[in-house]
Amino acid sequence: MIIRDMSIYLDNNATAPLRPTAIAAMQDAMGPPRNPSSVHGFGRNARFIVENARESLAMLVGCYPSDIVFTSGGTESNNLVLAQYDHLITSAIEHDSVRHVHNQCKTISVDKNGLINLDFLAGELAAIDEHKKTKTVVSVMAANNETGVLQPIDQIAEMARKANVAFHSDMVQIVGKSHLDFTHSQISYASLSAHKIGGPAGVGAILVRPGFKLANLMRGGGQEQGRRPGTENLIGIAGFGAAALEALNDIGHFNKMAVWRDEFETRMLAERSGIEVFGGVASRIGNTSCIAAAGKTAETMVMSFDLAGLAVSAGAACSSGKVKSSHVLEAMGADVRANEAIRISGGWATLKSDFERLADVFLQLYKQPT
Ligand code: PLP
Repeated sequence: MIIRDMSIYLDNNATAPLRPTAIAAMQDAMGPPRNPSSVHGFGRNARFIVENARESLAMLVGCYPSDIVFTSGGTESNNLVLAQYDHLITSAIEHDSVRHVHNQCKTISVDKNGLINLDFLAGELAAIDEHKKTKTVVSVMAANNETGVLQPIDQIAEMARKANVAFHSDMVQIVGKSHLDFTHSQISYASLSAHKIGGPAGVGAILVRPGFKLANLMRGGGQEQGRRPGTENLIGIAGFGAAALEALNDIGHFNKMAVWRDEFETRMLAERSGIEVFGGVASRIGNTSCIAAAGKTAETMVMSFDLAGLAVSAGAACSSGKVKSSHVLEAMGADVRANEAIRISGGWATLKSDFERLADVFLQLYKQPT
């Protein structure tokens, strides 16, 4: 399949383009054979690459390098953390890799702006039997992948800490887009993924706060302090580390993007009626807009945008390639218009002119008769 060079890529929440420094780091790691566990020079060099990447990641999220455990991605990170616990309290808008780990869980509803119901969470925390506390985990994502809506993570972490319950946050979409500092937060675990920040797919990490367990599901190796056995993905980890280092210096770009995104939405709302922005009044990460145009199905809009040279997505990207109805928008009470919602998500390579072109094409498409 040919991807036009001139296309504007606005689907970074699905995956971001590889950063050139990540490509260079991976090419370097593809050199001589290197197993980080080997004691010879080749092995020591590999260990250096892995520990360097761990330090870069720790700098990006503000934690100690020893708090970072490398995994195969956000999905594995979410699964590994949550599978250790018998009881899960989670929100209605989580990624499937959180929602489907437990057959039964307590679900926290969200309001029409996508914010979780803190009173419900407080009630659930207060109702946990003392003997169940060490077996219970609360999991709430920091930024939603469809709407970009941010949750009050520090407040939730503090509520969980006071209740003596572990707190996990899926931070896959916030990392690299907002300043983070875990040293002052009460979060017990966080999940991270490389390919959302310009690293390769197939590598991620868990941030594990000292004192919290990480039981290895796989047996037979001592890597990652026995917490995640298996020979390290050296090439992927090298790319992750390089992307993390660059992302650290790039947060300002996402702050600027929030202005471009807001200008785009303001123009859409001003010029045409029938436009709705989901989560538009809540705090959001700067790169995401979830927007619907009355009478235009998301599938048609995505195809029309594609023909016009713009890559956007319909709600959440689905692994089967089909557009399914969004549990996130349904939870926000937007089910009637959920099939019209498209997701626009900029990334490290996005320009102001990309959002301007998006606005022009959006209006053209909206004006066309259906
Ligand atoms: N969590 C969120 C919020 C995501 O958006 C994604 C990917 O779309 C994941 C988890 C899964 O991450 P990965 O693709 O690295 O498994």
